Amino acid sequence: MDYFLTPEQEMIRDLARKVAVEKILPVRAELDEKEEFPWEIMKNCAEAGLFGISISEEFGGFGGGVLENCLAVEELSRVCLGVATSYAASGLGAHPIMLYGSPEQQKKYLPDIAKGKRLAAFGLTEADAGSDAGSIRTTATRTEKGYVLNGTKQWITNGGEAETYTIIAITDRSKGPRGASAFILEKGAPGFSFGKKEKKMGIRSSATRELVFQDCFVPKENLIAKEGMGFIVTMRTFDRTRPGVGSQGVGVAQGALDEAVRYAREREQFGKKIISFQAVQHLLADMATHVEAARALIYSVARYIDQSKDPKEISKVSGMAKVFASDVAMKVTVDAVQVFGGYGYMRDYPVEKMMRDAKILQIYEGTNQIQRNVIGLELSKEYAGKKEKK
Ligand SMILES: Cc1cc2nc3c(=O)[nH]c(=O)nc-3n(C[C@H](O)[C@H](O)[C@H](O)COP(=O)(O)OP(=O)(O)OC[C@H]3O[C@@H](n4cnc5c(N)ncnc54)[C@H](O)[C@@H]3O)c2cc1C
Repeated sequence: MDYFLTPEQEMIRDLARKVAVEKILPVRAELDEKEEFPWEIMKNCAEAGLFGISISEEFGGFGGGVLENCLAVEELSRVCLGVATSYAASGLGAHPIMLYGSPEQQKKYLPDIAKGKRLAAFGLTEADAGSDAGSIRTTATRTEKGYVLNGTKQWITNGGEAETYTIIAITDRSKGPRGASAFILEKGAPGFSFGKKEKKMGIRSSATRELVFQDCFVPKENLIAKEGMGFIVTMRTFDRTRPGVGSQGVGVAQGALDEAVRYAREREQFGKKIISFQAVQHLLADMATHVEAARALIYSVARYIDQSKDPKEISKVSGMAKVFASDVAMKVTVDAVQVFGGYGYMRDYPVEKMMRDAKILQIYEGTNQIQRNVIGLELSKEYAGKKEKK
């Protein structure tokens, strides 16, 4: 379907597609098998200018918005969600600086992130604080020249590989949700080390690691925005990055659909191509319909976010985009394995990896249950006081 993209948007999509097909496709199975961080591919993405898509031109980026980012993420995810996650997590780590960083912070960090010279990461989750982010325990104690961080972040994508980290820590517990603040940390800072590296079900080429802070000093110029704004920075960041998780879903689902249709056209049983069986055709038809519906939602939500200034409405639609497209990704990848039958269960074909990879999309950047809570709450507020129309 034609989404009437601008020539610039088409160029971004084509660039990402070229990297995906030429560089990622030949090595995706090996990266998954070896659970190896895709440094070579990150370099390819950097050479293609992909890391700068949403960063302003002033800092060496392309100056695009949410839609442009989604287009690139979709193409990378169509071939490998592990690689796409490593790429997208750098954008997630950069967003707090893009949205709330001081001019000095933006000038210092964004040009290298835009060039792909430094990867970024975002650290919020802890062992006892996942969905309930308000119960994080990492503290940032104010000193004369800055802050001292203590605590451990868990499951941080690009942990250990990234150079620049945006970290949410408690500066004043008595202030509740207004008691957290966002900081920029650099790899190599004294007191900042990396802990356990996770072994995962899917997206195995992405790095997921603990970040450990032991009396880690952060200069005061590395505080993002103001003290107490940590969760606002987080929410506004996720508002803009959740459609990207949705586009990861569209990409992996499209990749699985491509494989399933190709296979169904070749595989013969009962003397016929299996695509000639109506049951298989209907499965493929539903998969294709879901993928297109998810893509249409992501593109329209991304366009809306790029135009709108209403944060409440953005949180709702951004959550819808994430929930819908990630559920589609899970369903379509499971169905793709079904189309392949037993071969789909084997590592010789890519659909089992796609199915393993897709599951994460329903979990990270806020589980789909939490997104539904947010959407439900906004609906309830919207309709409060509205009289029922006859
Ligand atoms: C591979 C991977 C990469 C990640 N990358 C990052 C990263 O880069 N940075 C980062 O900060 N975090 C990262 N995370 C953490 C991720 O965002 C959390 O896993 C997620 O927010 C859920 O938290 P949890 O896993 O602790 O689940 P829990 O919060 O313990 O939830 C468990 C279950 O209970 C449900 N549940 C909890 N509360 C409610 C509620 N109120 N209503 C309904 N259902 C509820 C959840 O939906 C879920 O099904 C990553 C996680 C993984 C697995």
